Amino acid sequence: MSADVILKDVNKVYPNGFHAVYDFNIEIEKGEFIVLAGPSGCGKSTTLRMIAGLEEISSGDLIINGKRVNDVAPKDRDIAMVFQNYALYAHMTVYHNMAFSLTIRKVDPVEIHARVMKAAEILGLVPYLNRKPKQLSGGQRQRVACGRAIVRDPVVFLLDEPLSNLDAKLRGSMRKELMQLHERLNATFVYVTHDQIEALTLATRIVVMKDGYVQQIATPKEMFDKPENLFVAGFIGTPPMNFSNGVIDAQCEYFEHISGLKFKLTEHQSEILQNYAGKQVIMASRSEYIFIDDAMLSKNKGSQFDIDVDYVEFLGAYNLIYGNIGDEKIIAKVYSRKEIVDKKIHACFDMEKVHFFDIETTMRIR
Ligand code: ATP
Repeated sequence: MSADVILKDVNKVYPNGFHAVYDFNIEIEKGEFIVLAGPSGCGKSTTLRMIAGLEEISSGDLIINGKRVNDVAPKDRDIAMVFQNYALYAHMTVYHNMAFSLTIRKVDPVEIHARVMKAAEILGLVPYLNRKPKQLSGGQRQRVACGRAIVRDPVVFLLDEPLSNLDAKLRGSMRKELMQLHERLNATFVYVTHDQIEALTLATRIVVMKDGYVQQIATPKEMFDKPENLFVAGFIGTPPMNFSNGVIDAQCEYFEHISGLKFKLTEHQSEILQNYAGKQVIMASRSEYIFIDDAMLSKNKGSQFDIDVDYVEFLGAYNLIYGNIGDEKIIAKVYSRKEIVDKKIHACFDMEKVHFFDIETTMRIR
């Protein structure tokens, strides 16, 4: 497989001197769905806009389809962009909204008609071709915006928070549509969002950014199971990971939590934590891997503790227990049907699933 889009040491320094993106490196394969995710201001839109050609690249190389395109105009880059405010032409029908960019490029009218009809079929827009945007639902308008990109038949689709103007329910169904669209087109997508649920559900690979720096590039599963650093651990997953402060004992057998509780390390953890004997570390646990049922408690005798319960959210299939372990907040997601009435609940970590992070570098210890 050949890479469709390559960013090599790409930097962005705005004219006012602000360094918005640092040394961005990625090779995107054909057909990938890359999601750039991160909090507001992390540089994800700037990166997308550099790929689109809407923002100049300060240094580094951008290669699309084997060609260095740093200095190529946006319209000649083989990309099409879908924005969050999809800005359809209000006075034009759905058909003409989709045809417009081809018309101004003077594409043969027969070809234009064929491409618009094909896009309309893919997007289920055939019944609406004669309507104006105001006669459409939000989801249908978003599909027209995608249609305008599809007719251009680009190598790469660039999408900047395309679902952020839709209500929660519609976002859910549009997510599904986008996934299906990506499959049908078999094209390369680069998608920007601050929503980690969108990142986890849509991406073949996620790029998490913070303060202009790439934090990790990985599949959703890798990112969820093996976050590289504390930032990614706190960003990906709902609820976010629980962080517990403590030290590794001198023999490297236990994590001694600041509350005084001791948790028995697995053999593998004892090995990788050798250099941390007597040192402070952060233990991170996913809410999903905290258990309160008897079977797991008897299996995990070395990692038990009490949660001082603040409150419990009943969410149908599971409960979210919000509480404290010592002075630290903790959230447990438990599927047990055991009714939670007590203010103190006995629980355990599945130590196989917890991670340890270096306090200074914030990196996962491995
Ligand atoms: P959001 O989710 O809020 O859109 P983002 O991650 O997409 O955030 P960018 O739009 O890429 O963030 O902006 C990255 C940083 O660059 C921000 O701190 C922003 O203030 C800054 N920035 C953006 N445009 C300019 C500009 N023209 N001049 C100077 N700084 C800018």
